[in-house]
Amino acid sequence: MEPNYIMRVKETEICKNCKNIVVGKGNLNADIMFIGEAPGKNEDEQGIPFVGAAGKNLDGLLEKVGLTLNNVYITNILKCRPPENRDPLPDEIKAHTPWLIEQIKQIKPKVICSLGNYSTKFFLADGDVEKMDSMQGITLVHGKIRMLDFHGLKIKLIPLFHPAAIIYNRNLIGMWEKDMNIVKSEITQKKLF
Ligand code: URA
Repeated sequence: MEPNYIMRVKETEICKNCKNIVVGKGNLNADIMFIGEAPGKNEDEQGIPFVGAAGKNLDGLLEKVGLTLNNVYITNILKCRPPENRDPLPDEIKAHTPWLIEQIKQIKPKVICSLGNYSTKFFLADGDVEKMDSMQGITLVHGKIRMLDFHGLKIKLIPLFHPAAIIYNRNLIGMWEKDMNIVKSEITQKKLF
């Protein structure tokens, strides 16, 4: 029998309509996780997160801060693509995040970089989907580090703009680069690794 957290994902409508379940990529022993929103078209086709245009920006970020897939793990709040890339629904987040929580418990990251509003609000709300709406949005909290006690793990949360956002809003590039430097100084502190 499959674990309950996988069965819950498979029971959702978006899972029945997608090509692939996109679990994650990178190192399962990583100290740092990047968590996006949901797979898009390319990710759905290949079964791998962040392989499209947003993925190129994320690759650029990783390169700038000296990280590769050898020292990070990358996944999403939703494991399946919502039709036409629409926003995740609360019930989908509820059904898909137990899998994410299992991943976090297994990987035990020291740092989570949440990418965009959904991922950031999920962690700010301490995983309580009902509370997500009342959390501050990414425009207010990007680049502001906070300590989380998430399922018994002490994790540093670094909220970042979603790498797709900078494709559509070039005004964000300056802030995105500043935030990258924050990530860099956090991960180069010897105490992390
Ligand atoms: N956007 C996301 O949030 N995740 C992906 O995997 C791709 C694009």
